Amino acid sequence: MKITEHIEKAKGRSLFSFEILPPLKGQNIQSIYDGIDPLMEFKPPFIDVTYHREEHVFNEKENGLLEKRIVRKRPGTVGICAAIQSKYGVDAVPHILCGGFSKEDTENFLIDLDFLGIQNVVALRGDAIKSETYFTPEPKGNKFAKDLVEQIMQMNKGNYQDEVIEKGHNTDFCVGVAGYPEKHMEAPSLDKDICRLKEKIEAGAEYVVTQMFFDNSKYFEFVDKCRESGITVPIIPGLKPLATKRQLSIIPHRFHVDMPEELISEVEKCKDNKEVRQVGIEWGIQQSKELVKAGVPVLHYYSMGKSTNIQKIAKAVF
Ligand SMILES: Cc1cc2nc3c(=O)[nH]c(=O)nc-3n(C[C@H](O)[C@H](O)[C@H](O)COP(=O)(O)OP(=O)(O)OC[C@H]3O[C@@H](n4cnc5c(N)ncnc54)[C@H](O)[C@@H]3O)c2cc1C
Repeated sequence: MKITEHIEKAKGRSLFSFEILPPLKGQNIQSIYDGIDPLMEFKPPFIDVTYHREEHVFNEKENGLLEKRIVRKRPGTVGICAAIQSKYGVDAVPHILCGGFSKEDTENFLIDLDFLGIQNVVALRGDAIKSETYFTPEPKGNKFAKDLVEQIMQMNKGNYQDEVIEKGHNTDFCVGVAGYPEKHMEAPSLDKDICRLKEKIEAGAEYVVTQMFFDNSKYFEFVDKCRESGITVPIIPGLKPLATKRQLSIIPHRFHVDMPEELISEVEKCKDNKEVRQVGIEWGIQQSKELVKAGVPVLHYYSMGKSTNIQKIAKAVF
């Protein structure tokens, strides 16, 4: 079922969902099931699976020269989605990137998803690879998430990249895109970023999932601004419970989001990460309850494979 259909069917009740990462290469799928199992009692109608593009690693050879190696540390997005749909009977939502994909690679990726009965995707540009400052699209690849949405919409109309195919099978993907309550790091202003978000919706995206935020007022203001700009699709809030003291600096650096002073001082008072996890759970419960009260369509948790804290939050909220 499409994410938009799940939301309509819930008739105003906030749904529970979460996002997982494929395990590091070399591990098996049991770690994924171990992360999902404790959350199934909250009946997620869908589970997102992130996509991780290649990284460039430079190894020093004996002669002192550097050897470039292209590695993928977390492959397996499509396989995990297929496994989730078959084991749990819930919709799996793979993330798909512009980065590292030519349009033809994208087409082949989408064909696999379609064959597997996967109907929903989150279309993203992806970040620059670690050895580059700015994002570089693949030759003959999509430059922005909007271009990727357009390509998927063309496939929904039966128009393929491969010129040999005059009229192909119409796929029926429901596409989600990313939104940033505190602005995407490269956008010159929040207003401009919302204009870009609107372009993704006009291209065919049917819902938005937000970057994590720790202050609900940022989400509420963002939704108001989106509505004023004419964006009418569901805007699903993304939530990440804090679990370690180091995240106070890692999360703002990596995701370009602010932490409220009250949360910072609560975390700073903690003697160890066990106490930080408790603060993260309490903060997450508070945030979630307020969002449910405001009638958000879904609470979407960034589990990153650790489900204990999300289980505690969900128990208190759902
Ligand atoms: C919910 C969510 C899930 C994510 N999942 C993943 C994942 O699985 N894997 C992963 O690698 N990353 C993931 N990311 C991170 C994401 O790939 C990065 O944030 C990336 O830098 C931007 O992706 P985007 O789809 O928002 O890009 P876009 O919407 O293309 O926007 C990128 C930037 O370009 C600007 N822009 C857009 N159109 C134009 C234009 N025409 N001209 C000039 N500027 C323009 C925007 O304002 C923005 O600053 C996720 C992010 C979120 C919020």
